[in-house]
Amino acid sequence: MHCTNCSEAISDLAEVCPKCGVRQNTVKKYCHGCGEPVKEIQEMCTSCGVSIKKTNKSSGTGEAMHPAIPALLSFLIAGLGQLVNGQVAKGIVCFIGSIILAFITIGISAIITMPMLIIDAYLIAKKRQEGKQVGDWEFF
Ligand SMILES: [Zn+2]
Ligand SMILES: [Zn+2]
Repeated sequence: MHCTNCSEAISDLAEVCPKCGVRQNTVKKYCHGCGEPVKEIQEMCTSCGVSIKKTNKSSGTGEAMHPAIPALLSFLIAGLGQLVNGQVAKGIVCFIGSIILAFITIGISAIITMPMLIIDAYLIAKKRQEGKQVGDWEFF
């Protein structure tokens, strides 16, 4: 296939172009099938007839879920929403941390940590859904 940003011929499996460093299908300046220039509003390449959708559903990787799912998971188990958001270390620390806090405060801390983790899981998932890069320790 061709890079959708610089038209360089790259591997079909490449998620990011090794020449220009741009993630594939986030921009579509060029057709991924033939490398001919295409316009942002085009849905099909007029040179080779391949469909040029902006999001590549077939890749499967980085598929964003609805933000309500990690929010709900964080409601059930503290840190689980963070975990499914890809923030594994943060999820584990949140899980252990909220247990310790709840233990010390006889469960009172959950009034604060529970909504915080639910909102955090929701907002981080929303950022990921919008295609933004989220750091391992990024909050809200
Ligand atoms: Zn490129
Ligand atoms: Zn084409």
